[in-house]
Amino acid sequence: MGEIQDKMFQEIRNKDIFNQAQHYAFDYLESIFDRHVFPTQKAINDLSVFDEALPVKSTNAKHVIEQLNTYGSPATTATLGGRYFGFVCGSTIPVGLAAKNIGTYWDQAPAMHVLSPVGSKLEAVVEKWLVGLFNLPETASAGFVSGTSTANLCGLAAARYRILQRNNWDINKKGLRNAPEIRVIAGKQAHSTVLKAISILGLGNENIEWVDVDDQGRIKPDLIPKLDENTILILQAGNVNSGAFDNFEIICEKAKQTNTWVHIDGAFGLWAHAVDKLKYLTKGIEKATSFAVDGHKTLNTPYDCGIVLCSDQDALTSALHMSGSYIIESSERDGMFFTPEMSRRARIIELWAILKYLGKEGIDNLVLGLHERAVQFAAELTKNGFEVLNDVVFNQVIIACDTDQETEALLKKVQELRACWCGGSSWFGRKVIRISVCSWATTEKDVAHSVQSFVEAKKYISET
Ligand SMILES: *Cc1c(COP(=O)(O)O)cnc(C)c1O
Repeated sequence: MGEIQDKMFQEIRNKDIFNQAQHYAFDYLESIFDRHVFPTQKAINDLSVFDEALPVKSTNAKHVIEQLNTYGSPATTATLGGRYFGFVCGSTIPVGLAAKNIGTYWDQAPAMHVLSPVGSKLEAVVEKWLVGLFNLPETASAGFVSGTSTANLCGLAAARYRILQRNNWDINKKGLRNAPEIRVIAGKQAHSTVLKAISILGLGNENIEWVDVDDQGRIKPDLIPKLDENTILILQAGNVNSGAFDNFEIICEKAKQTNTWVHIDGAFGLWAHAVDKLKYLTKGIEKATSFAVDGHKTLNTPYDCGIVLCSDQDALTSALHMSGSYIIESSERDGMFFTPEMSRRARIIELWAILKYLGKEGIDNLVLGLHERAVQFAAELTKNGFEVLNDVVFNQVIIACDTDQETEALLKKVQELRACWCGGSSWFGRKVIRISVCSWATTEKDVAHSVQSFVEAKKYISET
């Protein structure tokens, strides 16, 4: 490498680019609560600076970092702040950012214990903490993946493995050709990532037995077809629009009696199960077999942080198993047996840091706080003449105007005002605006300020 290698040694030694990046990062953090929640059109247009051919010659490192800061930073969305309510995102708890920063310099891959003893240890510890928090059987295990999309895939892969194995069919060896049939039952409001996982796994979306849902998007327990041990039943903790929870108490018990595999998509809602005052929403959920949940939404860890939990450890590790002549298995935790990837970043560092920082009480406060701000949002919007369409049981609020056109115009104006950011969706055939309260940083003032922006937008569209 010669010249460029010398440069790199020097960059490590003199730390200039690290100080430079740190400096920019601190500036960003200082502005986060005041900046536009969505970038200006100019900032977006200026991104064209990145449209260049791959340089032939090495670029000065300082210049690389400078370009990122000058053009990248203004074109970010302020998801870290308190007034971003789009999608179901989540902010980041400061200690998580700091821990991730250390982890960045460690650059660990917790595939095997020998590759990262600290990664392996933290994964083992957090696995126990989560199993306790969610009240799962002691034998349950956790895989630390990029998000709920992957966690859904892993949970359903475990289900597929177990059901076929019970039919004397080793999916790993024989594949799906001529395999015994697996039934899949899901509510009509299942998240699209569930469908994605089902199609990747070769189970086929057209084979899903769809179950009708009630006005909150909850699966209707009485309409669930007959369950049996060749069936995967997919339930939801937190409907992505309304935040509603399926009736686990009735359904999971029924499933248990018939030995049906229940998979829970609990991307943001499973955290209710860890919170004393919200636990009533998830009653009975621990009887399910596999769970997908995010750290990066409700718990406010940095991206990308998802977890698959499975009370059938053998099914999970068998579904995700890998081997190779160079692999060194240990008696400690080898993370790659619980995830699809071999190498992955040690996201466990910030997950551990945040759980340790918050403690049980802190988690209670965080999640309950999101709920309380959502309730406030709904109440103030109602007071100002907006129609709230859902029961605000968790962190989601959906509203609509009299007509779809008005709703769309309102949303567009709210987005243009940039005081807050919300997205649109559709809810039983109606266009809606979806407000998702996911940030620790959202204060009562932020909610009031955002509602004010809705009022202003409404005034504007009624005058034009
Ligand atoms: C966000 C979400 C997902 C997907 O999770 P990612 O972490 O984005 O992969 C799945 N299901 C529900 C209900 C969600 O809200």
